[in-house]
Amino acid sequence: MNTISRLKSEELRGIGEDMYRMIVELYPICRSITGNGYRQTMRRIQEIIPISIQEVPSGTEVFDWTIPKEWNIRDAYVKGPSGKKVIDFNQHNLHVMQYSVPVHLKMPLQELKHHLYSLPDHPEWIPYRTSYYKENWGFCLSQKQLDCLEEGEYEVVIDSSLEDGHLTYGEYRIQGESDEEVLFSCHCCHPSLCNDNLSGIALTSRLAGILTGLSLRYSYRFLFIPGAIGSITWLSKNEEVASRIKHGLVVTGVGDSGAFHYKKSRRGDAEIDRVVQYVLKHSGKSYQVRDFSPYGYDERQYCSPGFNLPVGSLTRTPHGSYPQYHTSADNLEFVSADALVDSLSIYIEVVRVLENNRHYQNLNPKCEVRLGKRGLYRTIGGEIGQPLNEFALLWVLNLSDGDHSLLDIAERSGLAFMTILQSAQALLQHQLLQECST
Ligand SMILES: [Zn+2]
Repeated sequence: MNTISRLKSEELRGIGEDMYRMIVELYPICRSITGNGYRQTMRRIQEIIPISIQEVPSGTEVFDWTIPKEWNIRDAYVKGPSGKKVIDFNQHNLHVMQYSVPVHLKMPLQELKHHLYSLPDHPEWIPYRTSYYKENWGFCLSQKQLDCLEEGEYEVVIDSSLEDGHLTYGEYRIQGESDEEVLFSCHCCHPSLCNDNLSGIALTSRLAGILTGLSLRYSYRFLFIPGAIGSITWLSKNEEVASRIKHGLVVTGVGDSGAFHYKKSRRGDAEIDRVVQYVLKHSGKSYQVRDFSPYGYDERQYCSPGFNLPVGSLTRTPHGSYPQYHTSADNLEFVSADALVDSLSIYIEVVRVLENNRHYQNLNPKCEVRLGKRGLYRTIGGEIGQPLNEFALLWVLNLSDGDHSLLDIAERSGLAFMTILQSAQALLQHQLLQECST
């Protein structure tokens, strides 16, 4: 039986480099919440895992929302009075405000400035701006570029299309022993932004690849969706599936070098909340835990009161609290293979605990069992290759009353989850425990 195990250190380096390489390949693509850049990104993910690509027509009602028109862009630039391009989409795709309608106009600088966006506090960086639900057009540029624009007549060209089409998303499911599901969801709708969006895509697709082919207790679902409208769309089409989601995480912001942050689900005390906190606490890494709030990423939709799914969000530095967020400085230098693989290791550990966190019943609960008689006392050799821990055996026997999970026992005893698991497996082999069906 091939179950999930910790990655070996020699595997880690290669996986980190693969994830980083994927980010390098996806970085230049102009993604948006719809359009061909999104499809191209889904096809790249298909090189790792066989996701199915779903297309939902513009105009489809999804709860209180409507799938917008599809946006595609071929070219965009602003030419200055000398006829030279002063802003060029081909230099950086953040230069165009997403969902800009097609335009070909001439106007003086003062009028053009109503459509220009910059960051005076970070004069070298280009901001990321969108106007999905209000028809508009605009250009984003560095403050330095803006300061260089001279008075005169400018030519503005945006060669885009905003037409009825589709919203695209990717979905992948691994069938486990149970139909109960673990959800991993990441947004894929940002253009050249690395930590916010691409790091989540790289980690989620790699995690899915690692879990494929293993013998798993839960089924696993991976969603590669446009932020907000994507999770709203998926939930509106999959209410029955959503009811089978037992644990979930929104994956993004996992490539920077900051401390880990776990944002709890709306429930606050779901098993996923406890498992992630347990894993972070024992990881030796710095981390913070935040309570749920109804803003952030797609956990807002999964945790809306009509669903209230046990879905948290495990990131590194939270969105909006690093200056590079939603700017051109969230680039290939801002993320690293080491940080990505470090994050992936935490996600794998979360899956390992979820997979093994079961409830057992002590079949011999009246007074202590004689461990020595069964070769379990001061014995060596558990299944996982470590000597059995007597304290762990006693804790598991004492707390296996059907009410306490192995995570409860690990937390109460202060012993590592894997030590408790190993003891439970040995006790099972000796018919001293049975699994509860809860
Ligand atoms: Zn974002």
